[in-house]
Amino acid sequence: MFIYDKSIRLLDSTLTLDARNYSEACCISHAHTDHIRSHRRVFATAPTIEFMKRRLRNVQATAVNFNAPFGFDGYRITFLPAGHILGAAQILVERDGQRLLYSGDFKLGESATAEALQVATCDLLIMECTFGHPRYQFPPRQEIIARVCDWAQATLRHGAVPIIFTYVLGKSQEIMKILSDNGFALSVHHSILRLAKIYEKFGCQFGDVVLHRRSAPMENRILIMPSSARRTRQIEKIANKRTLYLSGWAIDAGAKFRFGVDEALPLSDHADYPGLIEYARRVNPQKIFTTHGPADFARHLRALGYQAEPLISKVQKELF
Ligand SMILES: [Zn+2]
Ligand SMILES: [Zn+2]
Repeated sequence: MFIYDKSIRLLDSTLTLDARNYSEACCISHAHTDHIRSHRRVFATAPTIEFMKRRLRNVQATAVNFNAPFGFDGYRITFLPAGHILGAAQILVERDGQRLLYSGDFKLGESATAEALQVATCDLLIMECTFGHPRYQFPPRQEIIARVCDWAQATLRHGAVPIIFTYVLGKSQEIMKILSDNGFALSVHHSILRLAKIYEKFGCQFGDVVLHRRSAPMENRILIMPSSARRTRQIEKIANKRTLYLSGWAIDAGAKFRFGVDEALPLSDHADYPGLIEYARRVNPQKIFTTHGPADFARHLRALGYQAEPLISKVQKELF
């Protein structure tokens, strides 16, 4: 049904999925940089296209709605919500009664800003496995959110500046939404705010948010910054601050020291290990190919009775 050679390409077709190489036609699951690049022709959801236009120069894209199948080279393609970031899709490909599902990046359960994941069944599943090791089990989401809010409240009460470092697209806007819904006022880095404008365009409302300017007073505001700003002079110059790093990787021992912050909490927009297993169970495929994560995850799936292998070899993949 597909051929894999660094990129996933459908058999007898020019259509690729999240291709790393330039492609004639490519379905793009979502706008994180490891999934996008310029192609001759792109199919993606409307928010993904808007994000791509902010990140790439040349975007020739056709907007695809969720649950609105379209035809391409004899295939039927359907985008389904993936619960990862706004506009993120799983891509379902059907031909001759065979169903291939490409998960893209996904998360089961609730998100403040992404469309909830929709489960589909399939014969062949290509799934991401970023957190594909049993040590990656996140605490309940409500517990993490409560800890972020308590930390921000305590920091402000002590007259210090709370600074949250996180990923520019997706996680930043989610924590903006969570904090503003909890009554906090925010000051936001321009790279995050310009993407938040796209969230607003698609119906997300953020509350009391201002653009962060070095000269402006930060009294009683939480500062939201890109992870890459952690060791910049701009941050160093802020006296009396407390810093928090927000990422699934915060679950690793020593994360605070590694990321050079006072606190690290694992709010993730990916499925954790139990979430990955639960996803495989619900999708109920005959065969699984794993990607974007530890090759060892396929071994865990095999131990649970699945036919699974990492998507690494340069071969044609068929069900039979
Ligand atoms: Zn992603
Ligand atoms: Zn990714």
